Amino acid sequence: MDRYEVIGNPVSHSRSPWIHSRFALQTGQSIEYQRHEVVPEQFEEEVHHFFMTGGCGLNITLPFKERACALTTQRSPRVEMAGAANTLGYTAGVLWADNTDGVGLVRDLAENLRVPLRGARVLLLGAGGAARGVVQPLLEAGVAMLDIINRSPIRARELVSEISSRMVGAQAVIQAYGWDDLPQQPYDVVLNATATAVTGSMPDLPATLFTSRTLAYDLGYGSGMTPFMMRARERGADWVVDGLGMLVEQAAESFFLWRGVRPETMTVLQDLRSSL
Ligand code: NDP
Repeated sequence: MDRYEVIGNPVSHSRSPWIHSRFALQTGQSIEYQRHEVVPEQFEEEVHHFFMTGGCGLNITLPFKERACALTTQRSPRVEMAGAANTLGYTAGVLWADNTDGVGLVRDLAENLRVPLRGARVLLLGAGGAARGVVQPLLEAGVAMLDIINRSPIRARELVSEISSRMVGAQAVIQAYGWDDLPQQPYDVVLNATATAVTGSMPDLPATLFTSRTLAYDLGYGSGMTPFMMRARERGADWVVDGLGMLVEQAAESFFLWRGVRPETMTVLQDLRSSL
């Protein structure tokens, strides 16, 4: 059977094995997909070992997406833009990398949740691997403003400077902030791309960021409301959503890259939600 894995640390929360086994059943593909927690010092070695022993594809989760990008020789434009990879494969002796996070998020927002992204004012919390993957697709979807806040402000500034240097003639206004220096205006969409759904502790957020119509979307997920969703609700956002839709959509894109077949996502998302 063709072997696939999701590699990260921690990885026990990942629902990817469940999702990919549903895709495989639905499309008649014969695959095995498992979780694999690796210690940070052994990430590169484990990736090489996986592919050298016949593995077909890897999903990369926190905190390794930027290291996965550095490890590969053939990178898609999405990886080059993001500096981070979540999907690896090995074809004809070449280790390749792609990033499906951005397309997954934009599909969930625009198609599943019907959020108008063109002209939207968006706040992105976090500047790690997931945040890097979603920035370019959000800009391509036509957002008017993208503010990025990160715990280490230098990483937010670096990300903004990379985007700004690439985006010749871009319409969006893009700015970086630290948590001590938060903007004081309301947004149409607030995206949480920090690891706080996994770590459990969420920094405070001022009520000025939200109106009752703001979508507060956590890329993270769990069995109920995440710390970010609870905080956003307390601060006045009525519409709070977790990242399960993005998870299913980015997985569908990875499955397509590996298997050449595009699975149907809506029933998988509904079943995933009711299984939690
Ligand atoms: P990384 O480890 O690459 O980045 C983590 C980010 O979270 C960094 O910006 C880090 O800030 C910040 N952070 C960590 N802890 C805290 C804290 N206590 N307070 C404030 N900020 C914090 O992780 P990823 O970017 O890969 O993943 C981030 C989240 O996105 C995870 O919850 C992951 O599950 C989710 N995700 C969901 C996907 C989906 O399909 N739904 C897809 C991809 C990711 P600093 O730079 O200062 O360390």
